[in-house]
Amino acid sequence: MSRRKIIAGNWKMNKTPSEAVALVDELKDLVVNDAVDVVYCVPAIDIVPVVERVKGTNVSVGAENMYFEESGAYTGEISAAMLVDAGVKYVIIGHSERRDYFKEDDELLNKKVKKAFEAGLTPILCCGESLQQREDGVTTEWIRSQIKADLDGITADQVKTLVIAYEPIWAIGTGKTATSDQAEEVCKDIRDYICELYDADTAEKVRIQYGGSMNAGNAKELLAKPNIDGGLIGGASLKADFGQIVNYDK
Ligand code: PEP
Repeated sequence: MSRRKIIAGNWKMNKTPSEAVALVDELKDLVVNDAVDVVYCVPAIDIVPVVERVKGTNVSVGAENMYFEESGAYTGEISAAMLVDAGVKYVIIGHSERRDYFKEDDELLNKKVKKAFEAGLTPILCCGESLQQREDGVTTEWIRSQIKADLDGITADQVKTLVIAYEPIWAIGTGKTATSDQAEEVCKDIRDYICELYDADTAEKVRIQYGGSMNAGNAKELLAKPNIDGGLIGGASLKADFGQIVNYDK
C-alpha cells in the first residue's frame, strides 16, 4: 500500500500577517503537486489571513500549537475549536522547541493529542532524540517512550489518520541532516512500534515524516525511503526551496 506523502512547513515564530500573505503568494505556483499533501503550519496570528489566501489551492493550514481545554480562563491559549472554526486542519503537537523551552511533557501532550482528535484536527506529533541520547545508543528506546505516552488512550482508527514527525533534535535548525539511512532506521522503528501497540493495518496507514534541516538538496533522497512519508520543514519552508521539496519527485 502506498501512503500519500505529506510535506508540511513549520514557520515557527516568523512572518507577520502581511508577510505571511506575501509568502503564500510567492509560493502559490511553486507548491503545486497533486501527488502530495501540502500544509503550512503558521503562527496563530497568521492563521486567519493565510486560510483566506490559500482558498482554492492545494494547500491546507496547520497550527503550531493548541491547548487541550475546551474554553475558559487560560490567558494566551488557543483552543482546538477555535482552530477548527478558523479553517485549520492540522496541528503540530510536541515540537522539541515546545518540549524544551515551554516544558511541555508527555502527559500534557497526550491531552493535546486527544483534544485535537476530538475536535477533528489531525495532529502532527513530534518526537526525537538529543545528540547525547543518540551517542548513548538510546534513540529508539527514547522515541518509543515518547510515542507510548503521547498516544495513551488513542484508538487505532485515530492513529491511522495521525502524522508522526521524527525530528532528531540535533538536526533541527542546525544544517546537520540525519542521513537518509539514519532517518529511515528510526522511522521504520516507529512504524514497527505502532504495529506492536496497535496492529499491522494501523502501522501501514500512519504517516511518518522526517524533520531536521530538510532542504531542496536532500529531500529527494530522504523521501525515497520506504518508511519516510513526508517532511516537516522549518527554515526551508520560508523560501522558494519549499516548492522544490514539494516537487521532490519531478
Ligand atoms: C522543525 O522545526 O520542525 C525543523 C525541522 O526545522 P529545520 O527544517 O529548520 O531544521
